[in-house]
Order: sequence, then structure tokens, then C-alpha cells
Amino acid sequence: MASVEQQAPEEVAVNGNNGSAGSIAVENPGTGEVIAHVADLDAAAVHEMAERARQVQPGWEAMGFEGRAPIFKRAQKWIMDNQDRIIDTIVSETGKTYEDAQLAEISYGAHAFGFWAKNAPKYLADEKVSSSQLFVKGKKLTVRWRPLGVIGVIGPWNYPLTNSFGDCIPALAAGNAVILKPSEITPLTSLLMAECLQECGLPPDVYQVATGRGATGKALIDEVDMIMFTGSTPTGKKVAVAAAERLIPASLELGGKDPLIVLRDADLDRAANAAVFYSMQNSGQTCISIERVYVEAPVYDEFVQKVTEKVSALRHGHPQGPGSVEVGAMTFPPQLDLVEKHVADAVAKGAKVLVGGKRREGQGYYFEPTVLTDVDHSMEAMTDETFGPTLPIMKVEDVEEAIKMANDSIFGLGGSVFTKDLAKGEAVARRIHSGAVNVNDALINYTALELPMGGAKQSGLGSRHGANGIRKYCEPQTIVVSRSFPKRDIHMFPYTEKNTKRIGKVLKLVNRGKK
Ligand code: NAD
Repeated sequence: MASVEQQAPEEVAVNGNNGSAGSIAVENPGTGEVIAHVADLDAAAVHEMAERARQVQPGWEAMGFEGRAPIFKRAQKWIMDNQDRIIDTIVSETGKTYEDAQLAEISYGAHAFGFWAKNAPKYLADEKVSSSQLFVKGKKLTVRWRPLGVIGVIGPWNYPLTNSFGDCIPALAAGNAVILKPSEITPLTSLLMAECLQECGLPPDVYQVATGRGATGKALIDEVDMIMFTGSTPTGKKVAVAAAERLIPASLELGGKDPLIVLRDADLDRAANAAVFYSMQNSGQTCISIERVYVEAPVYDEFVQKVTEKVSALRHGHPQGPGSVEVGAMTFPPQLDLVEKHVADAVAKGAKVLVGGKRREGQGYYFEPTVLTDVDHSMEAMTDETFGPTLPIMKVEDVEEAIKMANDSIFGLGGSVFTKDLAKGEAVARRIHSGAVNVNDALINYTALELPMGGAKQSGLGSRHGANGIRKYCEPQTIVVSRSFPKRDIHMFPYTEKNTKRIGKVLKLVNRGKK
């Protein structure tokens, strides 16, 4: 069963839970070696966890923001004090580079603990409301945010700290108990964070980790009061249906196919650096990776040349500590097949491979950093989420064609526009149908936790970060207090002709509107 102690990775590995039925082998994708085993929990185990969560949640809520914040601040420090150990865990279960773990996970996790400790009281403060409605004149109107109770968080494998554990932080800050079902591919970081929270003083069972596969995630939805899901669009739809069956709220952060537009007046060096970095970092396995580029014809050749040089210079392979390679492994072996399929489909339809284009043979799971040109929207590489180190670049006639192509997608997570004309950049950004757009940048909006981050179209429902990033783990409760009152209000029984006429006059007076 799933107590924190039993599930700590080292202990699971030495517990003899070594690959027999009911356990999951965790591989290092950089080497292909099995590094640990974790339990594959069934519905009964998840039910027991939920019962424990329900017992401890009221006490956690009663501690208030002041009682909870010190634990978060200690956890922030714990992340920094233990960063090498956390990075080692992340790198070993994902195969990503040291820098990818440091920049996008350690930095996010530490910042998020501090951010939510400070901002939860502000975002969830009681709101005093004034109303123009005569019926409530003189009454005290308040909206308060009450934690929902037990939150289920289901996460993907690409960012085990940021995208799985990260969403637990605001849920806990609001006073909920949380059960996290991490990806079966990368469960170890979530377990390490259980150790972090325990050492920092979190009461037992307020945060629990339900390791397992899709069935464990399904069982979790059956137990909780709200589900926060990050993962692919097809699984997200199943989660939405399961949540609808129980009529519980679901927040869905799903797949993407983010476009980057390069206008003719762009700073081409910056645009090329950003396109290469944000398509290749984390081996392209980021929901808001740059997945496709549209370049205005006059600067197309120069841009392609710059990108080709930069991608050719990337070091690629098994990360051996800081500064060793720019592009690491692919975390999920079947993802290699998909990337290979997208490249083959593009080539079959006329695309050119300028750099890379193949998986690397030998130990571990690697795909070469790849640049494709002569691409169009008949190709999967331009329409489906590739989630790999590929950068397809398409020439467009003008900005109108660029916007049309950028919006020609079922996804709408992020996007980028490069131009020195900032007003034009912002105007183009407003016409891109996605949750966020960066002008002369990419992806960076994710780091500012004050900004809502979520997907349009099939990239999701709801958002994380900002006020909604914590309010979604609560329900608003309206409280109306009548302070001074007559024995009977004029609209109460019995109805009399006189009162009805009086009310009619008042209604006419207050609703006459302005000419
Ligand atoms: P996935 O959908 O395959 O799995 C995600 C999680 O859902 C896993 O923990 C899995 O075990 C669980 N799961 C599977 N079937 C389930 C079911 N029926 N009920 C409940 N849970 C179930 O996604 P993945 O391959 O792990 O992650 C990659 C995807 O995640 C990409 O599409 C990527 O774009 C997306 N992603 C989105 C964001 C975002 O913020 N929008 C962030 C990171 C990743």
C-alpha cells in the first residue's frame, strides 16, 4: 500500500517489489536500465488513501493560511538545499539534461512554494460585495472560497516536478488534501516530494502519491472532489467524461502544437535562437514547445540558414552532469516511434531534412535534433503534436497567411510572434487563438505565476496560475447577512393590491434605464 515510507523509491526498490505483478518498473531512458519499482495501486488501495485524506483534511484546513505557510516556506528551502538530489532523480527517470531539470523544474518548484504561501491568502480572501439590487440594500454580502476537500492530480511524464507535483501546491495551499497520480513512466520525483513535505512538517496523509497506470488514475477520479489533469488530449477527454459522470469539476491541461511566426522585420538572430531553444529544450517534450514555424518569404532563407547552423551545433546524448549536452533522451520510448512517423510522413510528402531526422541506435532512447523545410499542412509534423526535437519551418507570403496557418490547428496552447514593431506584434498576438502568446519570446509566460496559463480549443479547459489557479480548488460560497430588518419585508406574504402596486412603481423607477 501507499504510505509515503513504503513508496519512497529506494525502499520500494529494496522492498523486493521487483517487477512481479502489481509493480511497475521505472527505467532510466538515458540508458534503458531499470532503476526502481513502484506499486501499481488498484481501486481498493486508492479508496483507502481517499478515506485517510478525508480524515486529515479538516485539520489541515483549520490550520489556516498562517499555519500552512511556514511548511511551504520550509519546502521552498528544502528544494534548494536538496536540488542536486532532486535533479538526479528527475534526470534518472526522464533522461533530460541537468539544465532542463534545473531551469524548468527546480526553479519552478521552489518559486511555486514561495508564491502560493504568499498569494493564497490574497487570492482566497473573503470578498465584500456591494450590490445595486434593492432587495439586498443594507445587508452584508460576502463571497468566501471554501476548499473542495480532496483533490486528485493526474500528471504526465515530461515534467514530473513542475507538471505533476506543481499543481498540488496551490491545491494544498487552499486547505485541501491531495492525492497525486504521477505518470507510471516518472513516479520517483513525486515520491521524493512526499519526503520533502513530510520533513517540512506537513501532517501525514495530507499529500499522498498513488502510483500506478491509467486504471489507477481512473480509480482516483471516482474518489475525489475535483480532478486536475495534465496530459494528452485523448486522455483528457476520457477524464472529462469520467468527471462529468460524477459531476465533479475537472481542470484539463492538454496537448499543443505551438506556432512561431517570424515577420520580415524580426531580429533574426533572436528569432532563430528562440526557435531552436524552445523547440529542442527538454528534447521537444514540452506542451508549449515550438512545434512549427512560419517565416515571411523575404527573410525565410536567412532564418533557415541560422537555424540550421545552430541545430547542427547541438550536442546530443546521455546527460553526464551540467554542461554535457544540450539535448537529452526521449523519456517515453513509444514517443520515438511517433516522432519517426511524423518525419517519415513529412519526407514522403515532399519535406526536406536539413539536420538530423533519425533515431539514434544503441542504449537509451534518442532522436536527433531535426530541422525540416518544404513542409505544409498536409503533413502530420505540422498538424499533430510531435512532442520531440523537431523544427519544421514553412515559408509564408505575408503576415495574413502566417496568422491563418497558425490558427489552422485543433490546438491552442501558446504561440510566438517575432517582429521589431511591437504594436504590430501585439496586434498579431491578439489574433492567434491560443491561451498565451509571447512577442519576441516563447514559453516564458509559464514562469510568471501571476499569469493564467491554459489552453484554448482542444488544448484544455480551465487554467493554472493566477487567481483561478487556486480558486479552482475551492467552491465560492455566498453569505448574506441581514443586519437590521423589519418583521416582514414588503414582498413577503400576504400579497396585497396596495403592496403590489407600490412594488410596481419602484420597479419602474429603478429600471427605467437611460435614454
Ligand atoms: P497521457 O495522457 O498519456 O497520460 C497522462 C496521465 O494520465 C498519466 O498519469 C496516465 O497514467 C494517466 N491516465 C491514462 N489513462 C487514464 C484514464 N483513463 N483516466 C485517468 N488517468 C489516465 O499523457 P502523457 O503522454 O503522460 O503526457 C504527454 C502529454 O501531456 C502531451 O500531450 C503534452 O502536451 C501534455 N502536457 C500538457 C501540459 C499542459 O500544461 N497543457 C503540460 C505537460 C504535458
